[in-house]
Amino acid sequence: MQFDTQAEGWLRDALAGRPITKEECACLLQFPETALEASLLRAVADATSRERFQNQGIVLGQVGVEIAACPGKCKFCSFGEGHTQFSASVMSEADILHNATRFTASGELFALFLMTMHTFDFARLLHTVRTLRERSPLGTQLVVNIGDFDRVQALELKAAGVNGAYHVCRLREGTDTALDPERRQATIRTIRECGLDWYNCCEPIGPEHGPEELAEQIFLGLEYGCFQHAAMRRVYIPSAPLASRGQISELRLAQVVAVIALATLGCRETRSIAVHEPNLLGLAAGANTVYAETGANPRDTEQDTTGHRGRDMAVCKQMLYEAGFSQLLVSQGKQVSLLETFKS
Ligand code: SF4
Repeated sequence: MQFDTQAEGWLRDALAGRPITKEECACLLQFPETALEASLLRAVADATSRERFQNQGIVLGQVGVEIAACPGKCKFCSFGEGHTQFSASVMSEADILHNATRFTASGELFALFLMTMHTFDFARLLHTVRTLRERSPLGTQLVVNIGDFDRVQALELKAAGVNGAYHVCRLREGTDTALDPERRQATIRTIRECGLDWYNCCEPIGPEHGPEELAEQIFLGLEYGCFQHAAMRRVYIPSAPLASRGQISELRLAQVVAVIALATLGCRETRSIAVHEPNLLGLAAGANTVYAETGANPRDTEQDTTGHRGRDMAVCKQMLYEAGFSQLLVSQGKQVSLLETFKS
């Protein structure tokens, strides 16, 4: 068995602190996930991330606050108009507060996310944010995962206490979705210009996405300076139009996580790397962040993802512990020992 010497050189450089380039990223994604080169790539990303993030893991919590036939019509999402099998529903503010309390009560969450459909009731969202901001303990960060929005709305959200926004110009945006990639990127620029933390992700990765296509999308995150980079695979949903294309393995997803970790080595804005959905392979390949989820989930066929695809805080913490992380980074830069948590 011979090792690719060019890949070895790039990985040695990365160990010395040099971020991989877009071209190197694409080349490293050409190796099958079972190749020796892919294993070494994951190992190098793991080592560099543990040093970069001081072996601190992060748990984020997302509450999906509504379900509707979404005009985004994303062909991979269980809520897309034209193929969704869900009836519309809205989580009451009392339930949102209850779920937020479940996530934040222990003080171990880094940030609480509120997720809506592409179109959403801005006034209601603002009201919810203000209520949460009044009640959330220990200054938990608030992040929105909503449709496109403009500068005025961004500033209103920020003034109400929102710290950041998850927003992605997805793989094949405009082809596999009914949304405009330019509008998606305009919102990302708005997020950055208004001083909100921008949570980004390479998603939703399927078997049809080639190395160059993945590298292009990954590097958008660097171009705009994402606060968090991440990778997420498309989850097989039988009723979704893209179901027949199948699903990549967690091992392949971990390979994408690894190139993201090495590509962002020089990106000073990037403070964490996430893997969606939570899994150990990604956490041993450069990711240090996972999401707990409740309520609506675009990758689920259940109305409430709790107890289904959505993981809770305890499972996420346990996963970080099993992956060897020693600390949790929680709100306001504080740390909690994971090792103590699992001592009797
Ligand atoms: S992924 Fe988001 S924008 Fe796309 S259909 Fe689903 S809820 Fe709508």
